[in-house]
Amino acid sequence: MLEDAKVLLKKYYGYDSFREGQEKVISSILGGRDTFAIMPTGAGKSICYQIPALLMKGITIVISPLISLMKDQVDALDDIGVRATFINSSLDQYEVQERILMAVSGHVKLLYVAPERLETESFCALLKTLDISMIAIDECHCVSQWGHDFRPSYRAIAPLIDKLGERPVISAFTATATTEVKEDVVRLLGLRESDVHTTGFDRKNLFFSVIRGENKKDYLMKYLENNRDQVGIIYAGTRKEVDNIHDSLARKGYSIGKYHAGMSDMDRSKAQEDFLYDNVNIIVATNAFGMGIDKSNVRYVIHYTIPKNMEAYYQEAGRAGRDGEASECILLFGAQDIILQKFLIEQNVVSEERRINEYRRLQEVVDYCHTTKCLRKYILEYFGETVVPDSCDSCSVCKDERSLADITIDAQKIFSCIARMKQRFGTVLVSQVLRGSKDKKVLEFGFNQLSTYGIMKNYTVKEIQDLVNVLIADEYLFLTGSQFPVVKLTEKSLKVLKGEEKVFQRIHKAKKKISADSSLFLLLKSARKDISARESVPPYIIFTDAALREMSEKLPQSDEEFLKIKGVGESKLQKYGKEFLKTIETYLSEHPSNLEVQK
Ligand code: ADP
Repeated sequence: MLEDAKVLLKKYYGYDSFREGQEKVISSILGGRDTFAIMPTGAGKSICYQIPALLMKGITIVISPLISLMKDQVDALDDIGVRATFINSSLDQYEVQERILMAVSGHVKLLYVAPERLETESFCALLKTLDISMIAIDECHCVSQWGHDFRPSYRAIAPLIDKLGERPVISAFTATATTEVKEDVVRLLGLRESDVHTTGFDRKNLFFSVIRGENKKDYLMKYLENNRDQVGIIYAGTRKEVDNIHDSLARKGYSIGKYHAGMSDMDRSKAQEDFLYDNVNIIVATNAFGMGIDKSNVRYVIHYTIPKNMEAYYQEAGRAGRDGEASECILLFGAQDIILQKFLIEQNVVSEERRINEYRRLQEVVDYCHTTKCLRKYILEYFGETVVPDSCDSCSVCKDERSLADITIDAQKIFSCIARMKQRFGTVLVSQVLRGSKDKKVLEFGFNQLSTYGIMKNYTVKEIQDLVNVLIADEYLFLTGSQFPVVKLTEKSLKVLKGEEKVFQRIHKAKKKISADSSLFLLLKSARKDISARESVPPYIIFTDAALREMSEKLPQSDEEFLKIKGVGESKLQKYGKEFLKTIETYLSEHPSNLEVQK
């Protein structure tokens, strides 16, 4: 059976071997067992149900939560020559009828539907007439109210399965599951003695960084300057922050779009489409953006504000590098973010039990931002992996390239000023006093009489504030959680004031570029963009960046050589082979030395 699966993997998808975990999941499904697969984003879940669907005799119903996701999947399947279709609310009645007919007459192997559809009597009646081999449930954590995307319609799945004459195999997939969610999925979907497969959660091509105590805006600007042509997502905490970041980057000439729930449906889908089709490189968004974004060539995901929990973080950050190429996940930490997240919990979470749970989960993110252990290890252990090496060599803790600067004297000046201001004011006023500002408020309170007034004249107010934030991040100071946060001293700062401890700041060196783009790679990208416009499918569905990079390295010059590129199956060779081979040929005729290097 697995041999047949491998043949299809090569024929349709153009890959030589299954990835870790895929084989086990596919064998389990083909063995007729209910299967629950927990695999990280980008691990290749779709293939795990698509290949069995092709090998099973009847039809596979795929339950998928998002319209955009369904369309993407069906487009991608169509592109590799697999017969699939979807039914959802984006279609009119006539189109729905047409697709139902295709399903009934056995013309499609996979039918994607939204969970809401299972709540309509007529649709359930239709399903009973089909020869269903498997029901595959994507994003199955949506069935659990402990998960972060609870979708009540997922609860209609189990009753539907019970009503079907012959019980098909059930497979369920998610990228994220805590113990509570896992138990809920098995129970609420009615999985029978399910095989639970948790593949390693590790995403080896992702570099994780936490940036603490730096001016976020400055960091972001510097990072983007160094990575101008790369594709990335910036997550911000509020709509207002999204607007601000978007506007300042657009002013600087970046190719950028934005996405948040305050925009009209039309504007949002245009923004999403522009990003998917490579019309813009960067999208800045709230966490409303992203579920079902399969764009594979995202090179970085920057969180400008901390997320609400580690699961949400790993899922959002995991949108980087689905194509397996080196990519970065950067979390910018500011102590004020905690206040924002706590405010959101207070506003949105009604039950006391859930509130306590949400606070605990938020604390886990704060701990991640402060941990001195390997970030990858922290994440993997969070997801329940037990045997994790102590260091990974590809996170900001393991690869700390910052240099240490002794800032004890400045820290003492700041602490002493806060003490003299009776620990009753925020970071701005403290910084103004240290700077020696003549601001009305400073003079009103008589702070110009303090001995610490103007003792940091050589800094700007912003620089002093940045330094205060470093000291907050490193827990020498803390901010109260009120509407107007007040900065206070901690035990740690008292020791520094007494001269018992020194304070060091880590200074970042400018980051190098993620990867250099070769000129052939850019030509291939442009060929892909032309096809994408012509066929109205996103570029990454045609070929991933990884496939284009392999082409630009291996320089295939015949159909056989082209078929050897990972991601080139028979259908893609037929559809696009000529065009890409031509681009390579032209390039080689203009750069003959590349050919010699190759040989
Ligand atoms: P997930 O749904 O788990 O996030 P996808 O199914 O979208 O991931 O797959 C992510 C990427 O990995 C896709 O570009 C897919 O073509 C690729 N992929 C999947 N399986 C393999 C494999 N066995 N070898 C190489 N690439 C693969």
